[in-house]
Order: sequence, then C-alpha cells, then structure tokens
Amino acid sequence: MNNLWNETEAKKLKKDLLKQRVYTSRLLGANEDLVMHGGGNTSVKITKKNLFGEPEALLYVKGSGWDLGTIEAEGFAPVKMDTLLKMAQMEDLSDMDMVKYQRAAMTDPSAPNPSVEAIMHAIIPFTFVDHTHADAIVTITNSPNGKKKIEEIFGKRMLIVPYVMPGFILARTIVQMTQNLDWKSIDGMILLNHGVFSFHDNAKESYDQMIKIVSKAEDYLKKNASKILKGAKGTRDAQIIARSRKKVSELWGSPVLAKTDNSASASAFSNLKDLKKIATKGPITPDHIIRTKQNPVVFGKDLEGDFDQFAEKYKAYFKENKLAGQQILDQAPRWAIVPGTGSIFYGKTVKNAQIIEDIARHTQKAIFQAEQLGGWKPLGQAELFEMEYWSLEQAKLKKGGQQKEMLGKVAVVTGAASGIGKACVQQLLASGAVVAALDIAPEIETIFSQKEVLSIKCDITNSAQIKKAIDQIIFEFGGLDLVISNAGIFPKSAKIDSIPEAIWEKSLAVNLTSHQRFLQCCLPFLELGIDPAIVIMGSKNVPAPGPGAAAYSVAKAGLTQLARIAAMEFGKSGIRVNVLHPNAVYDTGIWTDEILKARAKHYKLSVKAYKTNNIMGVEVTSKDVAQLAVNMLSSTFSKVTGAQIPIDGGNDRVI
Ligand code: ZN
Repeated sequence: MNNLWNETEAKKLKKDLLKQRVYTSRLLGANEDLVMHGGGNTSVKITKKNLFGEPEALLYVKGSGWDLGTIEAEGFAPVKMDTLLKMAQMEDLSDMDMVKYQRAAMTDPSAPNPSVEAIMHAIIPFTFVDHTHADAIVTITNSPNGKKKIEEIFGKRMLIVPYVMPGFILARTIVQMTQNLDWKSIDGMILLNHGVFSFHDNAKESYDQMIKIVSKAEDYLKKNASKILKGAKGTRDAQIIARSRKKVSELWGSPVLAKTDNSASASAFSNLKDLKKIATKGPITPDHIIRTKQNPVVFGKDLEGDFDQFAEKYKAYFKENKLAGQQILDQAPRWAIVPGTGSIFYGKTVKNAQIIEDIARHTQKAIFQAEQLGGWKPLGQAELFEMEYWSLEQAKLKKGGQQKEMLGKVAVVTGAASGIGKACVQQLLASGAVVAALDIAPEIETIFSQKEVLSIKCDITNSAQIKKAIDQIIFEFGGLDLVISNAGIFPKSAKIDSIPEAIWEKSLAVNLTSHQRFLQCCLPFLELGIDPAIVIMGSKNVPAPGPGAAAYSVAKAGLTQLARIAAMEFGKSGIRVNVLHPNAVYDTGIWTDEILKARAKHYKLSVKAYKTNNIMGVEVTSKDVAQLAVNMLSSTFSKVTGAQIPIDGGNDRVI
C-alpha cells in the first residue's frame, strides 16, 4: 500500500495539530482500500484555553456525515475529554444518553455530531488516533481461524479485539482489555470483522503505522490468496435490468435508479461456480449493511420470484432477531448479481447507487480472496441485525428536507441541446429526476456536467441510433419513466407552391416520423416504468395554422394525431400521453433572428410586438413551457391523457 505522505504539503501545516489531522485524514480517505463512503474515523487531542482562560483538553473527532477523503477542519467535533473519559468508566450507557451528553460536552454547538467511536478515541492515550476498515485486514479476519492468522502476521505488538458492537460497548471492551496494558508495548489494534486502529503523538507516525499494518496484511494476501478475478466483459440485457428495477421499486415503495457493472471482474465474479452460496453470506464489515443490506440477490431462472424470495427471507430474518418496538425496514435488495453478466445496484440517487457499486466491488474482491484462505466467513445474523437496526447507524441515512417529487425517476428529452428541450432537462433535474439528454448537435456532450444527466449525441431520425441510446439509458439509470418528445426543426417559410421537396421531406422526417420511431423504441421500457408519462411538443400551428409554414404545420398536426392515438393505445399500460402547443417561444434554437424578422414582417409587426402578440401581452419563455411539460409528467396530471394544452399567453384563434 502506497504511503501518500508528501513532505512539501506537510510543511505548509506547520505545527497546527488540527490542520495535520485534516491532512492525514484525507490521505487515509484517498485510498478506497482503507475507507469508503463515511467509513473509518480519526481524531486529535488538543488542549485549548476556554472563555475563562483555563486550559481545556479536547478531542477533535470526525463528525458524523463527513467523509475522511474530503473532510475539513469544521468536520471535526470538539468534545471535552473529561466527559468522554468519565463515560468510559460507566458500566452502562444508552445510545440516547451517549449522543445527548457528548453533544452537551462540545465546545462548538454548531459542529457535527461526534463519531460513535468518540469514547474509544478518547481512551487511547496518544495525540493522534487513526481508524480504518481496511479491506486486507477485514478479509483475513473474515476467514476461518482469522484471529490466528492475524496473530501469526503481527505477533505480540498488536492488540487483537474480538468483534463487539461499535460505540459504547466497544469502548468498554477496550477499557477492560487494556487495564494492565502498557500502551507503548503495542503498535496498533485489530478489531476482528471490523477494522484497525493506529495511534501516535505525531500525525505522520500514526499515519505511517496504519500504512505499515495494512501493507503487512496485503503482503499476506498476495502470498496466500494470489488469484484475481479476471475474464471477459459481460453482455447486459436491458429488459432484465428494467424488470429488476421495477421490482425493486415496488419492494422499496418508491422509484429507484439502477446502475450496472459488467466489467471483467464483476462478470468473472458472477461466473463463479458456487456463486449463490459464497455471495450471500454477509458483508465485509457490518457498517456496510445499512447501505447494501446483508446480501445481494442472485438471479436464477425466475427474476421476479428471486426478489420475492429475498423479501420473504428478509422478513424471516427480522422476525427472528427483532426486539420489542422495532419496525421492519423495506425488503428491497440494493444489489443483484446476474450470472454470466455482472451486477446491478439500486439507489434512490445516482450517488447512492454509486456508493453501493463501490462497496460491492470491494466486497467481491474480499470474498474471492477469503475463499482462497479457506472460505468466506463474515459475522453471523444476530450481529449483523444488531448493526442494521442500530438507531445510530440508521440516523446516518436520514437527511432532512422534503423528498423531491421525481426522485428515482428516469426521464428522456429529445432536442435537449437548446431552447425548450434544454429548459426541460433543467426543470426535470430540479424536480429530482435523472435525465437522458439527446440531441443531434455535438455540443450536447458538453452542455450538462451533472452526474444526473446522461448526454447522448443521437440523430433522432435514425432508428439504430435511437435503440442504442435507449440501451445506454437503461444501462446507466436502469429504466425509463418519463419522455419529452421535443426534437423539432422550423423550416424556412415558403408557400405550398414553392416548398422545395427536400425541405418538406425533412420536416416530416424530424417533426413527425422520428417521434413515432422514438415512441416505438421507448414503449417496451415505459411499460416497465414507474407512473410512466409522455409529453409531445406540438405547436400553436396545429389549432391555428398560418400561411407560409405548411411543411412545419402539417408535420406537427400529424404529430398531434400520433399522440392522440398513442394515448389510446398506451393507456391500458398506464402510460399517459399529452400534448403541449406552445406559441411564440423565441429563446429557442429554431428561432434565428432571420426567421423572427421574417415572421414579424409577415404579420406587419415589429419584432417586439410580434413576441408579445397574444391576449395577455406576455412573452412565453422556454422555462414556462418546461415547467408546464414537467408538471404534465407529474402526479398532478395522473388521471389526464390525450389532452392538448396551449401555452401561448392566450390566442383568440386557439381559444
Ligand atoms: Zn469502525
């Protein structure tokens, strides 16, 4: 394992202990093999003068909700040492009291809640304490005779602690185990099935020690578990992914995203001979269980049945282990393995699905290595249950704020590089959905930088490109629920007797035919969608055509008819189809200055008067249209299909 200490960087920290703490915490956090997504914690003991000028010993310990990789000084909670040390001497302490009195002992009330391991950090008599859940350590301890193997590797200068619940119980265990111990006689502590502690009065030494300990364990694995997961990439099946995401959403009670991994190693893991047996024994460390649940679901021949079986097993596990007053959590798996292909991960947000993917990647490696050490042997059901239903762990998942209406939903917008399409993407993001943004313009690939947007350059008149794009959406987000079929062009004005053939053909191809092809490709996935809905971008020219725009108006009229029939055909599958008829939206790609001037001249108006030429005298913007479109996809319109709504500031020819 690489030691990332950089002397030049470290020199800038001078003698500031908290800055040093931030620096080496980040070094630990930079290595996924040490800590992942909120795992691990660090602390530094600093004596500071309080308001009254008296010296006060404080423990700056990682705050809940912070990641070591990105932690800042304000991510550390300052807690009075004397309170923590008194707590360590108590026989019994409830979680509620621990949290309450630790908060009361903080010298900065705006700091985050201290880590559940704060007492543990306080009793270790060194300035710096580093704690990680290093893969190599937990892999070895999750194999037969794990304790013996650790003793052989590290000898007498390592305190080996049997697994107990983290928090107060762990701190008490350490107090008892170290009563007659000279702390200088050990280099660290290994907590079986959990992780490792290093400590020193010097930041660098404590960090170095962590790297040394973990490197030793890694060397052992290199010698004794040298085979690695390798093979060819798996071939994904979009239908299976979408079906599984639908089922997980049902079990979870709200829509989720699904992310897939068909990399060589994920595919090799899915091909292991006794996959079902070894993959469903338990997680690497118990703190992963709140993210991944105990096990992945492994697909056999009956996908939906496999999920039902998972849910039944989960209910039985709850019944077996529950304490009075505990409520069962949802019964949806977070991770599925598709034999021969790889894995699928489920989360309400892109970030959550990514966290599960990261944990699963490390879990697969650990299982494969431990199997070479004699067999994967994680903690038992009772210990895992205790951790999963620990209120302090569940609190980590709960974040304030109201859930956005479209969280977990997947939308696609065509013609997304500018104007109404671009505004629709932004509006969908604001409502919590993830969005596939399609456009023929190459700049589509650089417009959106959010990880909630999948940008795809796609010629919407080309069926092969559409199919490829839809597959990409399913592989990235797991399904498809919402469609804004918006791509369109506005050809140059021409009377019927002088429309060039190519212009007529192109208008029909883009404004009409492409929408039919697109809907055709979306339909199989919308049928597996959650409250699926489609909005078709029509035009005021449908109810109120004008001379000189036949190629456009005829195509849009055909498109409206297509939408009406789609509403009839798709309704029985629960898919709603509604049409918007915008007028005079001038901040869009099709309205060049040239066209604008020509249309204004046609109506003998100035450009400004032309822009607000409606009953209300208002300008209609792309954002106005996008807001209405997204509302039409929402539950507000849950019983509406086949409707046509004008958005034009009022037009007496339309009314
Ligand atoms: Zn831990």
